[in-house]
Amino acid sequence: MNRPFNFSAGPAVLPLSVLKKAQSELLAVADTGLSILEISHRSKAFMHIIEEAEARLRRLLGISSEYHVLFLQGGASLQFSMLGLNFFKSRAAYVDCGAWAEKALKEAQKLTTTTDKTVDVLWSGKSGNYTYMPAELPYGELSLNSDYLHITSNETIQGVAISQDYQRQNTPVFCDMSSDILSRPVDISQYDLIYAGAQKNMGPAGVTVVILKDSLLAQTNPGLPTMLDYRTHINQASLYNTPPVFSIYVLNLVCEWLEAEGGLTAMHAQNRKQSNAVYALLDEYPDFYQGHARPDSRSLMNVTFTLPNTKLEKTFLAEAEKQQLMSLKGHRSVGGIRASLYNACPDEAVVALTAFMQTFYQQHH
Ligand code: PMP
Repeated sequence: MNRPFNFSAGPAVLPLSVLKKAQSELLAVADTGLSILEISHRSKAFMHIIEEAEARLRRLLGISSEYHVLFLQGGASLQFSMLGLNFFKSRAAYVDCGAWAEKALKEAQKLTTTTDKTVDVLWSGKSGNYTYMPAELPYGELSLNSDYLHITSNETIQGVAISQDYQRQNTPVFCDMSSDILSRPVDISQYDLIYAGAQKNMGPAGVTVVILKDSLLAQTNPGLPTMLDYRTHINQASLYNTPPVFSIYVLNLVCEWLEAEGGLTAMHAQNRKQSNAVYALLDEYPDFYQGHARPDSRSLMNVTFTLPNTKLEKTFLAEAEKQQLMSLKGHRSVGGIRASLYNACPDEAVVALTAFMQTFYQQHH
């Protein structure tokens, strides 16, 4: 099978072995004789799958029993609102490090319109066009009574990221890890709430993983709609209502694949190697391939750059497609080129991309 190389920012490339396994099991999963698409979410077979998925996430990320692991719907975008509905009481602090952080911030600001809540933007990279991350969390600016501090570990659109976990202080830290979860080992104890849509490193769209420290729950705001209260999903082990059965099933297969590949340390090494290969070309031809991120904040997942003009970018994308290098167009809000190199991106894809970039430079500079 001749599959194109897929550099999509999400939904993104999945391991071929996972797709094949899902295909082979589509008509009959486990010993049910029925498809995963047609069994009850309360069946023994699915209960086993969701429990296995949680256990694998806990092993891969080193999540202790102090934390709950939830499988929710509504995407990371619903978490922008849900975390505030649950835990924003009087002051919330935000690090505005890119397009997604700004969206999260705007949802928090919406919660202030009818009450006397305050949102503090502790740090913003907006005026600098979101080219880097703060070196450390801006605790100096933090008000003592902040309910939480919200950060985004990898900005999918701008391609800027933190390279290691920030050291937390007393204020709970909430983190959007949608586009870099499972890409490197993480010190979970530096966070109180982590959330991520699955459709980059974990599986297909439709399921959102939330990792939440139990001690936060005592602070939950009262009067929430049932579906928007984290405690509903904790008490029902993510089965309060019908969960996205197929997405959770594939997520479990992806986690199984990750464990077999050597876990997050091995993934981190692969991600560094692959992204370095592309960044090396940006460094070699800086007037031609102009990287967006400052070198200390380069994302290992989304490599973003522009060419000297948009006409050349169009030619780049058209010629890349002819070589089966797909979905390299930058996000519509920033333009340029974006190569997303998630966990399931094979080395051959990066070899093909860098060879193409070399040739394209020789022909067009
Ligand atoms: N945060 C980040 C960092 C993202 O990359 C995305 C999606 N690309 C989102 C949030 C929104 O996720 P969803 O589409 O699952 O709501």
